[in-house]
Amino acid sequence: MLKTDKSQEIIRKTEKVTPGGVNSPVRAFQSVGGIPRVIKKGEGAFLTDVDDNSYLDFSSSWGPLILGHADPDVVKAVQTQAELGMTYGASTEHELNLAQFIVDHVDPVEKIRFVSSGTEAVMSAIRLARGFTGRDLILKFDGCYHGHSDHLLVAAGSGLATFGTPSSAGVPEAITSKTAVLPLDDEEALEAFFEKHGDELACVIIEGIPANNGLLLQRHDYVRLLRALTEKHGALLIFDEVITGFRLGLGGAAAFYGITPDLLTYGKIIGGGMPVGAFGGRAEIMDMLSPLGPVYQAGTLSGNPLAMVAGYTTLKKLEDGRIYKELEEKNRRFVTDITEQLRDSKVNIAGIGSIFWIVFQSELPRSAAAINTAGIAHYNRLHEKVLNRGLYLPPSGYEVCFISSAHPDKMLTNAANTLANIIRQEAHTWH
Ligand SMILES: *Cc1c(COP(=O)(O)O)cnc(C)c1O
Repeated sequence: MLKTDKSQEIIRKTEKVTPGGVNSPVRAFQSVGGIPRVIKKGEGAFLTDVDDNSYLDFSSSWGPLILGHADPDVVKAVQTQAELGMTYGASTEHELNLAQFIVDHVDPVEKIRFVSSGTEAVMSAIRLARGFTGRDLILKFDGCYHGHSDHLLVAAGSGLATFGTPSSAGVPEAITSKTAVLPLDDEEALEAFFEKHGDELACVIIEGIPANNGLLLQRHDYVRLLRALTEKHGALLIFDEVITGFRLGLGGAAAFYGITPDLLTYGKIIGGGMPVGAFGGRAEIMDMLSPLGPVYQAGTLSGNPLAMVAGYTTLKKLEDGRIYKELEEKNRRFVTDITEQLRDSKVNIAGIGSIFWIVFQSELPRSAAAINTAGIAHYNRLHEKVLNRGLYLPPSGYEVCFISSAHPDKMLTNAANTLANIIRQEAHTWH
């Protein structure tokens, strides 16, 4: 067991002044148990906690750190900007640089606006879709996460479309009654829904590649059907690319599927580790935003210069595609390596780009309902053991792992062996 005295002491004190001791719930390690580590440093692929333990980091701050921690170029850009001021509440050239980069590299984005989080990006995109179409109803999928704005905190029912049961206290049913939820990976349910409600629908929102509730890879045909139905019924298609944007190559999930969504939302990587979000799409839709149009949207720190330079410096380093190629190769090797070592078990690794997810079932699920919850419990029991061997996995079996360009090959090989060994040792206790 690693020493965790200092982490424990800080958490105990924080719990007195911050609910659960954390500023975002999963950080409390509630599902995995064990001691949440208090971090003092990130460097490349490694995290160091306040007790001086170091970990190979597979959480990557939940996705933003495609270049690893404290990339020297990103750090330098932020330092240079910080000396010139943190925020002005007026425009900077850095906003143009980042906007131009995204518009130049993502075909469906003609115009873009920056905000401060993924939640805010999605919330604004949905308001815009409603303003543009003059319709209220929205559709989301069970197993996709889009941040914590009221109208998206909706519980899924079983089977066909359900409407409007809030999944959190404090969300009025009056708000979620305009949100429908469907299972992923089900063409029949989709067609039946559009038949009935397609013409009332402002938008459908889907994660480019659902990666917040396991990695639920969708079939191309399914995504194409979604595009065709939304187009036919005059509903906007929103790709939530907060994770997949600039993670799966420059074109994100839209390019992966060869789909042209009407609106796209961003966050995570485009801020290079600073708080950021963005939404963009066709100019005709984006121009409905204030000050040009009637859809109100604003933010004191929107387009913050530190976030803009961190994001732009990150994206510039990704521009020639070399890093994506290397990352894919690394991830493929890592996934193959573990999969081969676990050939005789029911454990699988789902992977795409530089994302992987450990799956405790023989078939990769494509919908939330297909996830084996007993498998999630297996993961949760493994977590602390893995952590004590120096591997920082996300603290929930529903979360995916990310590889960064700073992950050394040799460390990945060692990590694959360690993980496979621990899983094999544990597997005999599963029924
Ligand atoms: C992380 C995430 C969000 C929310 O972004 P925050 O910056 O945490 O508000 C929204 N959608 C997706 C797909 C995400 O992965």
